[in-house]
Parts: sequence; structure tokens; C-alpha cells
Amino acid sequence: MTFAATVLTLYPEMFPGPLGVSLAGRAREQGKWTLDAVQIRDFAIDKHRTVDDTPAGGGAGMVLRVDVLSAAVDHALANNPAAPVIAMTPRGKPLTQERVRELAEGPGVTILCGRFEGFDERIFAGRPVEEVSIGDIVLSGGECAALMLLDACIRLLPGVMGAPSSGSEESFENGLLEYPHYTRPVEWEGRTIPEVLRSGDHAKIAAWRKHQAEVDTRLRRPDLWERHTGARVQSASGARRENKDQGQ
Ligand code: SAM
Repeated sequence: MTFAATVLTLYPEMFPGPLGVSLAGRAREQGKWTLDAVQIRDFAIDKHRTVDDTPAGGGAGMVLRVDVLSAAVDHALANNPAAPVIAMTPRGKPLTQERVRELAEGPGVTILCGRFEGFDERIFAGRPVEEVSIGDIVLSGGECAALMLLDACIRLLPGVMGAPSSGSEESFENGLLEYPHYTRPVEWEGRTIPEVLRSGDHAKIAAWRKHQAEVDTRLRRPDLWERHTGARVQSASGARRENKDQGQ
């Protein structure tokens, strides 16, 4: 199945941009994913091709018009009805690796890119549009966020990454940051690669990596660590409950 990406944007010339090179670029040439960058302005309804207007209630900036946005979304839904529609917005649900994996396993995605002050809120009530944020920062437009989301999906498509395990061992895949990596030279400015990684003992290496992943997650991302340990406590108590229910 080819992953079909549609991007609704005022700047289609920004695509494929960085997705035209390296893994994503090769994968596109091989037909593993397709890209349709659609100009939102083509759905304007007046002779000036207006896409925005002043905010109701006053204030700075301009707001993307709902009649124009809905026409653009309807066009994308008609072409790829099974693909979820995602609007990039700092007001959205923070993007996670779990959501990226779900998207990558599906038929594709339609991404709506905002500009100016963003979208007329009624688009979210009137169309099946999921609001997604790429972090607690404000970009000038949704295009860079869309590129990020697509990059994260494309690398997970079957056959895109060299070794399939390089995807499943990454940070966030099991709720933890990944363990640190080293490569030659063995010694650099007096710093050596940890002995265990040169031991050839695979069990010891796996144990060291697991420990490092846990320590680094706890120190760098207490939020992730809390969720991870909470999930483990929950699943252990869930298992205990299940055993009890089954009289074990
Ligand atoms: N007025 C909006 C607010 O304060 O929530 C910010 C609008 S921003 C200047 C313009 C566009 O950039 C947004 O409509 C959105 O498409 C995109 N954008 C900015 N920050 C983003 C983020 N953290 N995640 C996803 N998209 C973002």
C-alpha cells in the first residue's frame, strides 16, 4: 500500500523540501509514498482569491476563512476519504510517536497548514479534523510542522529504513529515551567507549543499554519516566487483578 500524503497549504512550493532527499526522497522515488501539495488559495470564492479576514471581536492578525478551508478539506477527503485530516496548531494535542506509528500504518494523511493567527475555529466542528501540535512553541506556519510529521511517518513505512529493528529500538517506542551510542575511535581526547560495549557479551550489553535508557529517561525526562513507571505499576496491578479474577 502506498502512503498518500496531501498537504493543504498557502505555500505548496515548500514541499517536498527536505523530504525530497535521503530516506524520504528515495522512498518517494520508489513509490512508497506520494505527495500532493495543494494550494488553499485555489478554493477561495472571490475574484481576489482571499483566504483570510480580520478576527471577529478585534485584535491583531488575520484568520483563515472557514468557507475556504472547508472547500480545501472536502477536496482532500474526496480524493482520499480514508486518510485522517490533521490540522497543525499549537492548540492541538501534542504529537507522540504512538500517533505517528498509527498514522504510518494507515492509508496516508491530509495535513492542513495554518498561517497568520490560524484557523476559524468552526472548521473543527464542521469537518473531521484532528488538531495536532508539534510542541510548546509557535511557528510562523504549519508547513514545517507538516514536514516534521511526514518525516516521522515516512521513516516507519515498510522497507524505508535499512534495519527494521532501528525503528523499534528508538526513543519513545517503549516509553523510554534510547540508550546512548558510541562508535570508533575507541579513545577520543582521553574518553573511551564503555568497556561493556566492547566485551562482545550480548546479554551484558543488553542489560547495560536497558539500565542507561532508564537512568537517562529518569534524569532528562521525569515526565516520561513517571508515565513509564506508572504504566508498569498499572500493568502489574492489572495482571494481579486478572490472576485474582481467575482464582490464581
Ligand atoms: N495564533 C496561534 C496561537 O497562538 O495558537 C498561532 C498561529 S501560528 C503564528 C501560525 C500557524 O503556524 C498555525 O496556524 C499552525 O498551523 C502553525 N503552528 C505554529 N506553531 C505550531 C505548533 N507548535 N504545532 C503545530 N503547528 C504550529
